[in-house]
Amino acid sequence: MSNVPVWIVSVYVFILGLCIGSFLNVVILRSLAGEDFIHSRSKCPRCKNQLAWYMNIPVFSYIFLRGKCAFCKEYISIQYPLVELICGFCYLAGYISFGLTLKTLFVWIILSFFILLAGTDFKETVIIDIHAYILAFVGILFSVLKLSGVSIFDSVLSAIFGFLFFEILALFTRKIIGFRMFGEGDSLIAVALGAIFGFKILLLIIVLSFILQCFFSIPIIALREINNKKYCVAVSYLIVLIGLLSVFFVNYLNLFDDNLYLFFALIVCIILLWALKNIVYEITEKKQNVFNENDGIEKSQFYIMPFGPALIFASVVCLFFSSQVKVIILNFLN
Ligand SMILES: [Zn+2]
Repeated sequence: MSNVPVWIVSVYVFILGLCIGSFLNVVILRSLAGEDFIHSRSKCPRCKNQLAWYMNIPVFSYIFLRGKCAFCKEYISIQYPLVELICGFCYLAGYISFGLTLKTLFVWIILSFFILLAGTDFKETVIIDIHAYILAFVGILFSVLKLSGVSIFDSVLSAIFGFLFFEILALFTRKIIGFRMFGEGDSLIAVALGAIFGFKILLLIIVLSFILQCFFSIPIIALREINNKKYCVAVSYLIVLIGLLSVFFVNYLNLFDDNLYLFFALIVCIILLWALKNIVYEITEKKQNVFNENDGIEKSQFYIMPFGPALIFASVVCLFFSSQVKVIILNFLN
């Protein structure tokens, strides 16, 4: 293999990633629908026509067909080319970082399961348990084969820690605001992450995913509330975000002396409490609506974005850049 130029291997690896991504699309859709994904052929979800092989080529078919079904012209979900491209680039990143090694094979398998978990979580806020269990098993095997630099002891203990951390937090939030802020799926993902990464990196992933969740979900929630004409709640969410950011950045930039910083932090805290009060009021009101409607719970009624994608995004970052992330977070908090 050493005679083959790197760019040619890269092209092959990218195409392999696209094809696996195409398969992952099918697994995401059919496991959400509870269908068999090995024995049946691909068909259009609307007109049920079976797809010819040339309509199944990753990314290219989507471009050729201009994003529409060849039979009924129904728009094809952007999910298909998106998952394929993400998988292609993930595989490429695995090859570039670790070469053509057994470790890379494991990294590819792990990334594939990350895409599955994030995919089902994004689409229907559901985690398929078996995906998380298999990934946890792969993680433990990863350390048994001494490929990850994590001891078996660390791997198993961190898997248990990951589960307990999210379960305890979820039960705690249920006591306080009335529903689990984290789903059972998040606890299962954390089991797999603990098994793969070990204790130190698991902590790093949790911190990073909380930061990501704040930065991405608060503006989205605020925008949704503006659409619902609930300006007070929208503004409250934005104030929480700006407050958190300003406390971090003022500390980071060292603008004030200690006394002035304390005073500043105190004022921010008071404003944050006011904003949080609005939000908690809104959540408890929503909770009553949910109970009234019994089983007609719409997913969009929940205020918390699915946390799984944030956990997984943080994990991908840590898979490739754990040492850099550690330095950035430590600088940020100091
Ligand atoms: Zn069709």
